[in-house]
Amino acid sequence: MNIEAIYESADALLKGHFLLSSGNHSGFYLQSAKVLENPKNCEKLSKALADMIRAAKIEASLVCAPALGGVIAGYELARALGVRSIFAERENGEMILRRGFTVAKGERAIICEDIVTTGGSAMETAKLIKAQGGEVTAFAALANRGFCRREGGTNGDSSCKLNKNIPLFALADFAFPVYSPDRCPLCATHGKPTKPGSRPPSVPQPKAQ
Ligand code: ZN
Repeated sequence: MNIEAIYESADALLKGHFLLSSGNHSGFYLQSAKVLENPKNCEKLSKALADMIRAAKIEASLVCAPALGGVIAGYELARALGVRSIFAERENGEMILRRGFTVAKGERAIICEDIVTTGGSAMETAKLIKAQGGEVTAFAALANRGFCRREGGTNGDSSCKLNKNIPLFALADFAFPVYSPDRCPLCATHGKPTKPGSRPPSVPQPKAQ
């Protein structure tokens, strides 16, 4: 399966000049929500991810995703694995379980994101599961930005926040270069960077009176 082609055809792999949430600039941006806009894409990708996890004999009875980004991918992975799906959400800066979600003592869980960058939210979610008495057997993501090393991959560096003793499963690495704003070659040729993640759709704004 050509993951990059699937992302490109869904307009989920943007090319241009972007301001990332880290403050760095890049010529590429992954808009994973766009690839999940098509439920058939989501199903196909999640089934492939579930196959990798099963082949590695990872055991779990539950998938937990950090909201908001991971919820759709987590739900679909849980469906492909035939297990429960829950999500954690942030309240006052801290990941918690709400809505009656619980984790049984000793229950095995997979933490799932749509995309893993440095894995901060995934690791916070893993700590939450552990604090509830559960055990995290794997991290999973449709795409990996290459800061963390996935099973079978070669990328990864010291900025990865995931526990190295827990395997990360992802379908592909999208390890494109990022630049600090003072060293960005695109600033000279592409004007100001845009921030696609938080950019609202281009609807006409009502004029102020
Ligand atoms: Zn730039």
